Amino acid sequence: MASAMQNGARPETDAGGDLEHVDVLIIGAGLSGIGAACHLKAKCPGKSIAILEARECIGGTWDLFRYPGIRSDSDMYTLGYSFRPWAEAKSIADGPSILSYVRETAAEHGVEEKIRFQHRALRAEFDSASALWTVHALREDSGEEMRIRAGFVLMCSGYYRYDEGYSPEFPGSQRFTGRIVHPQKWTEDIDYAGKRVVVIGSGATAVTLVPAMARTAEHVTMLQRSPSYVISLPAEDPIAKKLKKVLPLKLVYPLVRWKNVLLTLLSFQLSRRRPETAKAILRKGLERNLPEGYDIDTHFKPTYNPWEQRLCLVPDGDLFEAIAQGRASVVTDSVETFTETGIRLASGEELEADVIVTATGLNLIALGGMQLSVDGREIDISQTLGYKGMMLSDVPNLALTFGYTNASWTLKCDLTCAYVCRLLNHMDANGFQICVAENDDPALETEPFIDFSSGYVQRAISKFPKQGSRAPWRLYQNYALDIVSLRRSPLQDEAMRFARVRDRAPADIDAPLVA
Ligand SMILES: Cc1cc2nc3c(=O)[nH]c(=O)nc-3n(C[C@H](O)[C@H](O)[C@H](O)COP(=O)(O)OP(=O)(O)OC[C@H]3O[C@@H](n4cnc5c(N)ncnc54)[C@H](O)[C@@H]3O)c2cc1C
Repeated sequence: MASAMQNGARPETDAGGDLEHVDVLIIGAGLSGIGAACHLKAKCPGKSIAILEARECIGGTWDLFRYPGIRSDSDMYTLGYSFRPWAEAKSIADGPSILSYVRETAAEHGVEEKIRFQHRALRAEFDSASALWTVHALREDSGEEMRIRAGFVLMCSGYYRYDEGYSPEFPGSQRFTGRIVHPQKWTEDIDYAGKRVVVIGSGATAVTLVPAMARTAEHVTMLQRSPSYVISLPAEDPIAKKLKKVLPLKLVYPLVRWKNVLLTLLSFQLSRRRPETAKAILRKGLERNLPEGYDIDTHFKPTYNPWEQRLCLVPDGDLFEAIAQGRASVVTDSVETFTETGIRLASGEELEADVIVTATGLNLIALGGMQLSVDGREIDISQTLGYKGMMLSDVPNLALTFGYTNASWTLKCDLTCAYVCRLLNHMDANGFQICVAENDDPALETEPFIDFSSGYVQRAISKFPKQGSRAPWRLYQNYALDIVSLRRSPLQDEAMRFARVRDRAPADIDAPLVA
């Protein structure tokens, strides 16, 4: 209870004993959760907040992943917060620098003391008579369950499982006498210096690992079933570098942020509208970076169009350089079986290995695995519709930060958090305690929440909310449109309903939440 009092939370007496209450409960202390708390402190200073974090530290993704070379695959001018410039030279930044940035932001904004570490949120129950969520959390340190009440819940729990990555069972893997490791479970004792390494995968993690491990390994082979689009960009933004010489950082940051937003939008739109042109541009980049005569068609020519899956970015062409120097190579084939000494491929070729890294991807999970109920009714998240990509239909007083798949995550999270602050201030100003998005159009067509063909998306998308075919139920994946939708458009629209608790007599509790 002491910590609740320090956090500005107020204790309430409950039949089960003292129950804490906060105005806003954030779930997750990663990049998004820390950003959300900063937005709330600045824009809703009267609100009490707390953050439940399952792990024992801040940073989420940027603390969890420790594999060699871990870095961003989008630029820090857009992955950084709108309110705190990224000051380092490198715009494609390494994991530890991003983690420091998140930690420093939390410390500077006085957010650290709001965090309850080792508190895993398991379940949240909304009671419309009191307009309060009761969130049940497991204390990972003691095994006890705790409960906390909140007027609003802001989910910043990321989008994938922390306990395990996606690890398909490879035939014969028990026979392999070397070490097999998934990048999500990397530990410092993994020694690959002077060793033969095979990295299985073709996504962002594989293209990061290969050049990083190739610095000290005897040789690194990237074994992929099918190729991805790979593009090289400068690790240090050349325009930012020039601007920094003549302008202060607080001006350079938004300018470069907008430059990158527009370039990314342009690249995405070009890929969707003129895929052949986009393919030709990407191909030119590969020809420039890879050795003459390199078999681009086999190893770097995907069967899908650009941006049907996330593009893989390599800073300063490090992957291509490792290939050109013979320290790394790409094999496009499939695993027939692991052997005692490596991998036998479907083609019959054998890859000798001392270490095999299975960069086979993430396991996605919605809402950090938290179960929801509203007035005793269990919510099946897969049956809900995303409202503006940040609230769920018929789930009151709850929002989620879900970033872009075709641009930096934080761009959308910043907009979402600012929108939540606007929503809360509007409710306070008008005496509302409940907000809920409701779809009255039975003919509204629905689509998956994310329209990516990548395996990791396809494996889990049926468990995620859906999106509608038009606003406000459509998830545009477009920062410019979202600025209009989240920052400028009126809060009251065809879907958003507001209600006051005092309007609801106890007899109404079974009636629809908002009349
Ligand atoms: C290796 C890697 C590199 C990436 N690079 C980029 C990039 O360059 N650009 C980009 O835009 N995106 C990138 N992403 C996506 C990336 O995850 C996001 O950009 C961003 O870090 C997500 O921040 P987050 O706070 O929303 O989620 P996370 O970083 O996943 O943090 C979520 C936090 O919530 C906590 N949590 C989860 N469930 C619960 C629960 N039930 N109760 C309590 N706490 C809970 C977790 O412990 C964690 O601390 C990358 C992802 C990975 C895996």
